[in-house]
Amino acid sequence: MATDTVVILGGTADARRLADALVDAFGDDLRIITSLAGRTKNPRLPKGEIRDGGFGGTEGLAAYLRDVQAGLLIDATHPYAAQISKHAAEAAAMSEVPRLVLDRPAWEPEPEDRWVHVPDIDAAVREISRKSDACLITTGVNDLAAFAPIVSTKLFVRLIEKPETMLLAGAEIVIGTPPYKKDEEIALMRLLGIDLVVTKNAGGSATYAKIEAARALGIEVIMIDRPPLPGGDIVNSVDGALEQVGEILR
Ligand code: NAP
Repeated sequence: MATDTVVILGGTADARRLADALVDAFGDDLRIITSLAGRTKNPRLPKGEIRDGGFGGTEGLAAYLRDVQAGLLIDATHPYAAQISKHAAEAAAMSEVPRLVLDRPAWEPEPEDRWVHVPDIDAAVREISRKSDACLITTGVNDLAAFAPIVSTKLFVRLIEKPETMLLAGAEIVIGTPPYKKDEEIALMRLLGIDLVVTKNAGGSATYAKIEAARALGIEVIMIDRPPLPGGDIVNSVDGALEQVGEILR
């Protein structure tokens, strides 16, 4: 295989694992660049090269792909990062670079789960106001401002790191680092008197314990369903992506 450049749009644990695996598997034959949005202060970095910050939209990303002479673009962003995924699809088409999407399978409800499906954060906000006295919000730092209209529910927001400015007055922050454990999630929900959990359908195992804990305690879960993403060549696992990269660049 000739030396080629693979650009990974990252920001997820799977993107990091994929970059590590590609560097391990292809060594000097591939230039692996992981692109991060630059929002996390101390992200865990993968092997290979890192670039940081937005591209300035579709054209910026297309220009970047041409600059680094990318042979492949891998969209390994979070399933709710809809804007960058749309830009990736458009930029790859514009610059005629093959694109692969690494998309973690969504969680599926078990019979004892009490999920209420909603299409977006605003719909989740309406459900919280109707149903809860003490709600655990686990949707990440990006969307916190959307919960501001809630007045009669005590909100607990679980985050991986403390934000520089608190975007949700009156809410209590609970800091935690995945992977979470079911027993600890049960203890946390009991301690805080949680009667409702709000989550995105992230998939994977690192944050699944909150779903198991809610199931064990009979607590309802407001499940914000995944936004529709552009189609394309999709793989569901890091191993699947690794195999495809070999095929595409051969
Ligand atoms: P988004 O709404 O789809 O993207 C907003 C803008 O951020 C994009 O238009 C792009 O700016 C920039 N951007 C996003 N991901 C980028 C990347 N990997 N490299 C360079 N620029 C990027 O995305 P988001 O929901 O804010 O998520 C940002 C990052 O956090 C993503 O990398 C995602 O994987 C990660 N993340 C998101 C969530 C979530 O729930 N959304 C959860 C965990 C991790 P330009 O238009 O200027 O290029």
